[in-house]
Amino acid sequence: METTPAFEGLRCVDCEATFDPDAATHRCPDCGGVLDPTYDYDALDVDRGTFAGRRFDTMWRYEELLPFTAESAVSMGEGGTPLVECPTLADELGVGEVYVKDEGRNPTGTFKDRGQSVAVTAAARHGAGDVALASAGNAGQSAAAYAGRAGIDSHVFLPSRAGFANKAMVNVHGGDMTIVEGRIGDAGAAYEHAMGGHEDWYSVQTFVTPYRHEGKKTMYYETVEQLDWEVPDRVVYPTGGGVGLVGMHKAAEEFRDLGLTDGLPAMYAAQADGCAPVVRAFEEGRDVHEPWDAPDTICGGIEIPDPGASPLVLDALRESGGGAVATSDEEILDAGTRVAAHEGLEMGATCAAAASGAWALAEDGEFGPDDTVVVLNTGTANKDADVLRSHLMSKGI
Ligand SMILES: *Cc1c(COP(=O)(O)O)cnc(C)c1O
Ligand SMILES: [Zn+2]
Repeated sequence: METTPAFEGLRCVDCEATFDPDAATHRCPDCGGVLDPTYDYDALDVDRGTFAGRRFDTMWRYEELLPFTAESAVSMGEGGTPLVECPTLADELGVGEVYVKDEGRNPTGTFKDRGQSVAVTAAARHGAGDVALASAGNAGQSAAAYAGRAGIDSHVFLPSRAGFANKAMVNVHGGDMTIVEGRIGDAGAAYEHAMGGHEDWYSVQTFVTPYRHEGKKTMYYETVEQLDWEVPDRVVYPTGGGVGLVGMHKAAEEFRDLGLTDGLPAMYAAQADGCAPVVRAFEEGRDVHEPWDAPDTICGGIEIPDPGASPLVLDALRESGGGAVATSDEEILDAGTRVAAHEGLEMGATCAAAASGAWALAEDGEFGPDDTVVVLNTGTANKDADVLRSHLMSKGI
């Protein structure tokens, strides 16, 4: 597992201490804060041509800006997903252009693969024999897949509400699965308990490993290149823990600071109104969320009542001049079926929160008539076909 030349190490986002990536593997040894990979940007010799000359196939084409080399990565060709122009949606939203970044085309059907590819590469580098995490479903499926590819055992803790496809595929990938009655917090507690008894298990949990948001940076790099190096005006993202949002914001700062692009896109967190701690904190002007009391939404991937890295998410929203929006499950499922009917694209139920949020933002007058809006479709509808079809049934269709 080779590290890349510009990769310096890990910096704590709270106390700013820096660490060697072989000495510190997860949270900050000093204060428990999130660790963030850092690079010597001055040593990087990249321009637009560097990337233009490469095949648009996997996210590892940006290896200079990732911690590990493409050659040493645990990879299945994740990333390199299409950015699909949606003219009907643009008309409906009253903006210049709408693009959907279609992450459903990843190896296990969601953008979680970008994060797990880097996290499991780190696990292999550190000699892990077992990886573990709690997940609403998609991250667990993805971790089991990448661990299988690396010859590592996986231990996946899922809430009973996780979707059938996730549960089935963790087993199919050979993962060890624990289903916990309840919701993500209950699965998290079971995972913590199990970690306590297995010192050698290597966590690939959200913001416990420093590498999942690092992998998700690549969604932004790709988007900008697909837009011929134009920075989109708005990016709308279905937000749970906010890993992808934090990663894309970091990527936008990197491309700007490297002189590859001008400016930052306004980042928007879209949540379901049955679990919207980030939206509430944003609206109340707070720097950190308060846990959501009784989370309840059909969007399992974003039903995260206590997102530990909310300060990073809120920073990204404010620094980029973006915002936060919550819509109801009814509106979200309407949006998912509407996009499928009008544009052909299949959005997962969770992901449709981004489309629904974009509609709500447009109705609030947040977008300008010439804006370019990018909506993240974080996962395939195949895993949620039953949920989307049942929504039609509830309307007598
Ligand atoms: C995990 C997940 C999300 C939320 O991702 P975060 O980065 O944790 O906010 C959104 N959509 C889908 C399909 C997911 O699986
Ligand atoms: Zn620290």
